[in-house]
Amino acid sequence: MSTAPLVRFAPSPTGFLHIGNARPALLNALFARRQGGRFLLRLDDTDRERSTEEFAAAVSEDLGWLGIEPDLFFRQSDRSALYDAAAERLKDQGRLYPCYETQEELERRRKRQLGRGLPPIYDRAALALTEAERAALEAEGRRPHWRFKLDHRIVAWNDLVRGESHVDCASLSDPVLVRADGSYLYTLPSVVDDAEVGVSHVIRGEDHVTNTGVQVQLFEALGASIPAFGHHNLLTTADGEGLSKRLGHLSLRSLREAGYEPAAVRSLAVLTGSAEAVRPIASLDELAGLVDLAHLSRAPARFDPAELDGMNARLVHEMPFSDVRDRLAALGIPAGDAEAFWLAVRANLGRVSEAADWWRVVAGPVTPVIAEPDFIATAASRLPEEAFGPGTWKAWTDAVKARTGAKGRALFMPLRLALTGLDHGPDLSVLLPLIGRERAAKRLAGETA
Ligand code: GLU
Repeated sequence: MSTAPLVRFAPSPTGFLHIGNARPALLNALFARRQGGRFLLRLDDTDRERSTEEFAAAVSEDLGWLGIEPDLFFRQSDRSALYDAAAERLKDQGRLYPCYETQEELERRRKRQLGRGLPPIYDRAALALTEAERAALEAEGRRPHWRFKLDHRIVAWNDLVRGESHVDCASLSDPVLVRADGSYLYTLPSVVDDAEVGVSHVIRGEDHVTNTGVQVQLFEALGASIPAFGHHNLLTTADGEGLSKRLGHLSLRSLREAGYEPAAVRSLAVLTGSAEAVRPIASLDELAGLVDLAHLSRAPARFDPAELDGMNARLVHEMPFSDVRDRLAALGIPAGDAEAFWLAVRANLGRVSEAADWWRVVAGPVTPVIAEPDFIATAASRLPEEAFGPGTWKAWTDAVKARTGAKGRALFMPLRLALTGLDHGPDLSVLLPLIGRERAAKRLAGETA
């Protein structure tokens, strides 16, 4: 048997992945990358009502966009025979027992317990039912749901993130593993799958710490070896709000559509709440080298979505032409001009897609701003002949300076306003040859071109 780690990311395809889900996905994928292990994508789709094919396809697509290509893939809806077999074993051991209470009955009991100052834990009344009582309930048409009988003891583990951890299972209700309609809740299938494929490290959010107490008992009851567990802090917004609810605008999909670089999203999702400064890391290998589960913070990982803009801009400013060649072509920027253009404009961009705005400044139409007509007329009369090249801007502005005595901002700003209609932008020595003589001359004459 191989000893290389096997990790998994196990979303339910009941919605689009958001930046908070990107955190466990990436922590697992980077862990595998760093340790030479494998990464399993498992779709936890036992909730048939809420799981959809559209969301399932989107999970793979969004992970691909982040740069995660799973080594293994399966979905729980294909594996019910395994869960049925495990459920039978637990029934044989007396660990899985039928319960007939309705939601209303359970709610009434909970209220009564709370009223008496008792913890609202399931009282195991169903365990006391006789055969005859059970038969009577079934004759009424009631179908049982099934609970796992927990050992009332402390389950302890050495958490990869949190260190020595424990859950006191005496304080928990016996969890329902099987619904009355025979479908499974997440708890049992997850353990059966992890055991069957030999998941070595379960890395997931700290909202699953209590589940780990229960699941360790399930691994034991099924005679399976127990993986290592690591529970990472959850991403929250700057005011501490959890991410799961109000996430429309932070879905990976919408971030992609808004033109953010996957590396910016990755870096923010992973480095927030880590020991490392939050900064854009372009390469997956480098990011993998920075993530150490043992050094994640225990505090919630607060992040400000606005940070994405800064991270993205920093990545774009350094981005080599080879990384954007195809995207510039898709924006309609001619191949022959694209590299020079890219190197000139990238420092002015927050997102690659904004290159199209600067290309419009090159190709027009631009409505010039003629702030100083006499000065611009003089400059126009000195505009060099074709062909425009890298030296054209300097030669021209030197000539205008010699003629008018203008220098610095007084020299450059009126020219920039006339040529681009804007008071800021990329280096004109690169833009001017791309604009070309014909358009430049028209703009200097005040024409929209
Ligand atoms: N489907 C579960 C979830 O999305 C998986 C949790 C786990 O990693 O075990 O929360």
